[in-house]
Amino acid sequence: MTVPRFWRKITNRYNLIGTRCDNCGSCYFPPRIMCPSCRRDSKMEEYRFSGNGTLVTYTVVHSSTSDFSSQVPYALGIVRLDEGANVSAQIVCDSEDLNIGMRLKSTFRKIGEDGDKGIIYYGTKFIPV
Ligand SMILES: [Zn+2]
Repeated sequence: MTVPRFWRKITNRYNLIGTRCDNCGSCYFPPRIMCPSCRRDSKMEEYRFSGNGTLVTYTVVHSSTSDFSSQVPYALGIVRLDEGANVSAQIVCDSEDLNIGMRLKSTFRKIGEDGDKGIIYYGTKFIPV
C-alpha cells in the first residue's frame, strides 16, 4: 500500500467517509470506486455518513490478542448506518444492555495502543443513543 493511500484510509475510518452513487443513491462504506448496481453508469462521490445507525448483530469478546487484552470483555457489532451501509465496529456498552435493533451513534475513541512504542490508535466506535 502506498503512503498516500494509507493516510486516505485513515481519514475514512476517522470520519466515516464512504462513497455515494449519485445515479441510484446507494451509499458504501468502506468507499467503492464503482457502484455494483449501476456499474458503467456509476457516479461516485465522497460521502460523510451521519454516524447514526441500528445494531444488526453483535458478539462479546472475552479473550483477545494482547493488543486488546486491556479492553476485554468488549462487544463487536455490525451497525447498519441509516444511509444503508453496514460497518463493523466496537460497541461501547454494558453487555447486558446490548440489543439487536438498538439505536447507536458513532464516536471517536481510543482503539488500541502499541505498548512498545507508546503509540495510541484512535478510530470509530459506536455508543447507545
Ligand atoms: Zn448506483
